[in-house]
Amino acid sequence: MPLSKSTAPLHVQDVMDILKQVIDPYSGENIVTLDWVSGLNIDQNNLTISINIPPEKATNYEPLRQEVEHKVKALPSVHKVMVVLTAHKASSQQNMKANSTFRGKYELPNVKHIIAVSSCKGGVGKSTIAVNLACTFQQQGLKVGIVDADVYGPSLPRMLNLKGRPVIDENKKITPHLQYGLQCASIGLFVNEDEPLIWRGLMVQTTIQQLFKDVKWQNLDVLIVDLPPGTGDAQLTMIQKVPLAGAIIVTTPQDIALVEARKTISMFKRLEVPLLGLIENMSIFQCPHCGVTSPLFHSGNSQQEAERKEIPFLGQIPFIYELSQACDTGKPFVLKDPEHPIAKIFQNIVDQVLPFLK
Ligand code: ADP
Repeated sequence: MPLSKSTAPLHVQDVMDILKQVIDPYSGENIVTLDWVSGLNIDQNNLTISINIPPEKATNYEPLRQEVEHKVKALPSVHKVMVVLTAHKASSQQNMKANSTFRGKYELPNVKHIIAVSSCKGGVGKSTIAVNLACTFQQQGLKVGIVDADVYGPSLPRMLNLKGRPVIDENKKITPHLQYGLQCASIGLFVNEDEPLIWRGLMVQTTIQQLFKDVKWQNLDVLIVDLPPGTGDAQLTMIQKVPLAGAIIVTTPQDIALVEARKTISMFKRLEVPLLGLIENMSIFQCPHCGVTSPLFHSGNSQQEAERKEIPFLGQIPFIYELSQACDTGKPFVLKDPEHPIAKIFQNIVDQVLPFLK
């Protein structure tokens, strides 16, 4: 490392701000707006960037590659930089294979596929959907685990009625809680519910390590990860460390939520995590008495948003009282009533995702 270099942490946003200054000479647009930054990995202030250029002009872009390298190297906390040009777009299935095999620092030999459930905004029903999806995968005959990595609001203990601190063996390995046939681990089992958020934030690094590397997962087909909401450092660290097969984004049909969902989608795209699709939660409200439905929010169209971003739209889940009641009583809704139309929506979502896991 050059002596003049700072050891302050390097943030993705700083790098993206620099990349926005690099202009494609043919279109006049910057490479971030063009969505060409297909990979960005920060490892202890060493940076790897992939730029996906148009294949037909591939040979003309070496000066642009050098410009990116030169500009990024000038950042005070960057130590080493590697910039690579790619000139093709892999299919999402190819991407998924590559990600499952090579991405991330942690190896989870007992887990076949890791799927993140993510949202940019809190309270959109991300955990509710993560838990019900996990149960639905299991109903399809898969061995399933769920990890609650939402450091800012762990809700798995409540939603799955998990009790007691995890058992940790002499090698510091954690036995996952077994509940409804799911293997479960949650940051919420390590901290008290009333613990201050700042303290939890400080635990992010160790938490990630414990939840993914140190849990003794037993031959899982699918591990569902309930990520913290947002696109901050906690999320980025997790996405970079965990070998994700793909991500599912949860949103509500509000403009504000969709703006946030867009950010989440861009984050996964930049980190080259395949997007399995978008789920719209709380689409409509169904009256428990008369069955009449009405919209809960006045605007926002998630399906159009998914089409715009070229990711699958997996389905809409209405707001129903029983779903939140099931969360509060600690038994997921799809287990209580597998024949309910909402359970069928979850089955349909899982059916759309399963082909990507072959
Ligand atoms: P997040 O993980 O995004 O913060 P949660 O899954 O904790 O959100 O959901 C927030 C609240 O909304 C919970 O009380 C949950 O029971 C309720 N909820 C989520 N989705 C639905 C739904 N479709 N119908 C009824 N209640 C829901």
